[in-house]
Amino acid sequence: MEKRTSAVEENVEKPAFIVGERVEKFCIKCKEERGHVIASLTKRGKISRVTCPKCGTLGTFKTGAASGTKRKLDPGAPYDRTRSYRAGQTMVHPTFGQGEVTALIEPLKIDVLFADRIRRLIHAQPASH
Ligand SMILES: [Zn+2]
Repeated sequence: MEKRTSAVEENVEKPAFIVGERVEKFCIKCKEERGHVIASLTKRGKISRVTCPKCGTLGTFKTGAASGTKRKLDPGAPYDRTRSYRAGQTMVHPTFGQGEVTALIEPLKIDVLFADRIRRLIHAQPASH
């Protein structure tokens, strides 16, 4: 006889958030709504804490604080790997779209916060010609 185990609870909902993803939030320190990076999630997959890539503040994230309002950024110039970027500069990447430089990792590498998450790009590359 087949005994049925308790129904497997299938979570239809995909995890909505992933650590490292971008979320819009008002930063108290920067006094502006800007892209933050998810630092930790609750057991239920809700955002617990976020960090501001600009000032480094680790803050709690309240649902409803970010209403998904789209903030208008300066479009920024197209991403140019031969250019030297500084933190805070904006760019438009041909694949990832609009991004903002959050940190210089190495002399030739930068972290850029795009619409979905941070990506590491190269910069200050010598022009090939
Ligand atoms: Zn900030």
